[in-house]
Amino acid sequence: MVSLACLTGLALTLNSPMAEAQTAAKEIFGRTPLPSVNPAEVHGFYSKGCISGAVAMPTDGPTWQAMRLERNRRWGHPNLIALVQKLSRDAVSDGWPGLLVGDISQPRGGPMLTGHASHQVGLDADIWLTKMPNRKLTRQERRDTSAISVLKNDTLYVDPNIWTPAHGKLIARAARFDEVERLFVHPGIKKALCETYGSSPQNASWLGKVRPYYGHHYHFHIRMKCPQGSTECRKQDAVPAGSGCDASLDWWFTKEPWTPKPPPKDAKPVKKRVVTLSDLPNSCSAVLREPQPANEQLVTFDASYDPTAALASASPSSAPAAKSAGIGFDWPIPGSRPY
Ligand SMILES: [Zn+2]
Repeated sequence: MVSLACLTGLALTLNSPMAEAQTAAKEIFGRTPLPSVNPAEVHGFYSKGCISGAVAMPTDGPTWQAMRLERNRRWGHPNLIALVQKLSRDAVSDGWPGLLVGDISQPRGGPMLTGHASHQVGLDADIWLTKMPNRKLTRQERRDTSAISVLKNDTLYVDPNIWTPAHGKLIARAARFDEVERLFVHPGIKKALCETYGSSPQNASWLGKVRPYYGHHYHFHIRMKCPQGSTECRKQDAVPAGSGCDASLDWWFTKEPWTPKPPPKDAKPVKKRVVTLSDLPNSCSAVLREPQPANEQLVTFDASYDPTAALASASPSSAPAAKSAGIGFDWPIPGSRPY
């Protein structure tokens, strides 16, 4: 629940430019409870940026449940929220019983108090590799339930008792979306995908988007491309051509990636510098000052619901009014509160 003290604290922080300049950006963004209501706009890069006009993944849908609600990290660009919802429907048609949705971004993106270097611009989403149960989880279960690793204990390989063809299909579905820039999975998962799909050249382009990386054996990570027209969104370098089922994957099964490198002999101890607002794009300070939704207004987004059409059919004359009031398909839609 958003407490008044919390909002007041934020206002105090922002009222003092001196204090703001020295405060860790994660403290400011991590304690901002609501998004801005400006039009959706991405500012910066996946690991250094923020977002205006984020909308929330609804806590429940017919084909998904959002997890870890207490973290308040289910905010994203409307295109990403729509994409995750589409993936959830497609996955169900493939036989996966529904998505458990993990962290997306904070209400205005930015660095987080804990975890995740990226997830800062509302274009990254974590999807659990655990099937959605056939009942609505309680808030407490969403906090306490752990995802299941698909790896065999203490190995770099998937456990055939846990990993199923349906896991592979789900990741393939996500990677095939044009708007998806890349996915991150554990190297053992990439290997399993290469074994299932790698022999067919027509799978190369989506397989190439599935990038092996540390972690990511409890969940996989979807990264969306910069939305069209988002001029302040910084693109990531393209993934290498080809499926990636090659020597670059084999490297992950050597000792090198898993052995900490000793520091060079003459290395000075590096002091970790605090990331402040001045390290982020200039527009991120402005994003923090953008207006928030009125108290009882929602900010969840259901892509299967077209509010303009609903309003038009209820009362043809009300549709333009709704549009000018900011109610539209690419805008936060009033509804239930995020909590
Ligand atoms: Zn992630």
